[in-house]
Amino acid sequence: MAERASPAWLKQRHSAEALRVEEPGFSGEGDALVVSRPGVAATVFVADCVPVLIAAGESVAAVHAGWRGLAGGVLASAMRAMKRAGGADPATAEAWIGPAIGSCCYEVGEDVAREVEAASDAEVVIRRPGRKPHLDLALAASKQLAALGVDRTSRSGRCVRCDPEWWSYRRDGAGAGRNYAFIWRTDDIRDTERTPRRRGGRSVP
Ligand SMILES: [Zn+2]
Repeated sequence: MAERASPAWLKQRHSAEALRVEEPGFSGEGDALVVSRPGVAATVFVADCVPVLIAAGESVAAVHAGWRGLAGGVLASAMRAMKRAGGADPATAEAWIGPAIGSCCYEVGEDVAREVEAASDAEVVIRRPGRKPHLDLALAASKQLAALGVDRTSRSGRCVRCDPEWWSYRRDGAGAGRNYAFIWRTDDIRDTERTPRRRGGRSVP
């Protein structure tokens, strides 16, 4: 069983580009990395943007979802690439939304707010009189996943700018490090299906 994994990563560009790779190492430019081979870890690094990890069918994906990616449909691209990789059914998919900048700290311009709202849901923008809109990127990712048919989603809920345990570009500036998230398949695909069952999710026949 591939309990250890070697990372595969992309040069991230805030695009909606999804790439499928089977070898570890640097894998090109894009923002969603789909891997089917056991022991190769799809990797994403962020410092305010949302890291999204998805397991579906015979593949896993690591997605870099900032406001541009969410507005551009990076999660839809990732799900399409996963379907091509192994007929992934969104109904059996599971997604994890990692720590990102929270709506408490993510003040944006009206133009950005409108784009992300249009691509997800009105609830993702918090508007109060006398201040700029605040955006909940993790909620936007969750709403988009639900619209794509992925209902089993968990969100960390942490704000990386409030919590010094994580890097935040808005707090730390150009010297900010990056938070990493990894996901990989073990050899036995039934192992990856065991987790949701233990949590009391849908039973897998
Ligand atoms: Zn915050």
